[in-house]
Amino acid sequence: MTTTEVAVDRPLQDLDWDNLTFSVTPTRSMWLMECDKELVWNEGKLEPFRNLQMSPAAGVLNYGQGAFEGMKAYHTEKNRIVLFRPEENARRLVDSATRLCMPPIPEEKFIEGVEAVVRDNADFVPPFGRGSFYIRPILWGSGPVLGVKPAPWFSFLIYASPVGLYFKGGLRCLNLKVSHDFHRAAPHGTGNAKAIGNYAASLYPLMQAKEEGFDEVIYLKAANEELVEEVGAANIFAVKGNKMVTPRLGGSILPGVTRDSVLTIAAELMDMETEERDVTLEEVLDADEVFCTGTAAVVMPIGKITDKENTKVYCEEQIGPVTRKLYDMLTGIQKEKVEDRFDWLRPVLEI
Ligand SMILES: *Cc1c(COP(=O)(O)O)cnc(C)c1O
Repeated sequence: MTTTEVAVDRPLQDLDWDNLTFSVTPTRSMWLMECDKELVWNEGKLEPFRNLQMSPAAGVLNYGQGAFEGMKAYHTEKNRIVLFRPEENARRLVDSATRLCMPPIPEEKFIEGVEAVVRDNADFVPPFGRGSFYIRPILWGSGPVLGVKPAPWFSFLIYASPVGLYFKGGLRCLNLKVSHDFHRAAPHGTGNAKAIGNYAASLYPLMQAKEEGFDEVIYLKAANEELVEEVGAANIFAVKGNKMVTPRLGGSILPGVTRDSVLTIAAELMDMETEERDVTLEEVLDADEVFCTGTAAVVMPIGKITDKENTKVYCEEQIGPVTRKLYDMLTGIQKEKVEDRFDWLRPVLEI
């Protein structure tokens, strides 16, 4: 645990806190770190939030050499601003960087940058119960390359934005479509890294699904289409009786921090049987409750799944009891309403 500090004496920003959406509201400052041709990172510093300049031949623009993270700071019931398991994001970015041939950010520098952004923009953190503060670290190849090879140097930036819920309409049952036309990730590809290119590739299936009236897409495993993999940018869970299953990690699935947290809460605090293994579409369609997890989405119930011509309905208005409980426990810990038994919170400021 770090020591907390008293917030700088700035009045809260005049924003419409009750109508926040999941979109960018620019804040005062961002954290920028750069490395040189020897791939040694500088100290990093806060700078005013601004547009960037880079070479037209930058590695990220030409070959998509970039990875990102997504995390949140919360204003808690105890009037503190806390981060949730930031060391997990730091570690995951090291893995993504390694996969994409980028020099990793040392974990302590990652956390130093995130904390600096939160402190300097504390007046943009939504008040208790009115949203959260989304933090977006990005690492990319900024130096010029013409041939396909790693960029000669890199940049690391952290910006943040106050946000509301990821899906319009709050905690509601999502309407999903199983994609038989597209896969999210290939075996031995970059599915387990938060590589920027993965998300560009997911836009077309997402837009098609939205045109057909769905909220998101369920992706099947490319290596075996009987198995489910993920929901857009969230991990998927199925509940049957006292058992909760989620696809095992091991290549094409993104190892979500929320996924890991929900597995822990279910096993340790709710006495559920949890399993990480191959999960078939058939058993998802046969489950009592299905939900998806992610920092942005939190824990979102899945109300309907359409597979080709068939639609399975899990919930319309009434959210399943396990999904509800997991949502309440997880958000309870994040807001310091429920005891932080696993030492997941990292206080940054007292207000
Ligand atoms: C970021 C992400 C998740 C969720 O990860 P969290 O750490 O829980 O936010 C799940 N799937 C994909 C594909 C993602 O990009």
